Amino acid sequence: MQVAKNMVVTMDYTLRGPDGQVIDSSEGKAPLPYLHGASNIIPGLEKELEGKSIGDNVKVKVPAAEGYGERDPQMVQSVPRSNFQGVANIAPGMQFQARTGDGARIVTVMAVDDNEVTVDANHPLAGVDLSFDVTIRGIRAATTEEEQHGHVHGAGGHQH
Ligand code: ZN
Repeated sequence: MQVAKNMVVTMDYTLRGPDGQVIDSSEGKAPLPYLHGASNIIPGLEKELEGKSIGDNVKVKVPAAEGYGERDPQMVQSVPRSNFQGVANIAPGMQFQARTGDGARIVTVMAVDDNEVTVDANHPLAGVDLSFDVTIRGIRAATTEEEQHGHVHGAGGHQH
């Protein structure tokens, strides 16, 4: 069986940044399932896994543009500190959920002064070149319901 559209693929993975630092990994956890061909994972990785088999190890470098996109400087904005009423100590690095024209987004506080808070609404991995080390642990056909929902059900997937 090979990785193809509408297959549920289970993988062990390690995600590293440009300096080789580990950003995320399935090590010590259950392998991660995803539905192939449904944009569950970033495009640059999904493309490379196409046609692979159980046990295959795939190392792929994904440039930022094929990962979480390039950073958009316009998504760094200063907002009045009064927008953060009820938050006692705003500090760089804190993350908040913000409502935007595109729906809910996580924003990261970059800087704070007496009147304004500078927030960055870019994805934390935007502009970061990534490398994945993936080993395929399982491949099965998706159920009709999974195909319709566009995601995996059961262990490691959506529980509903
Ligand atoms: Zn579902």
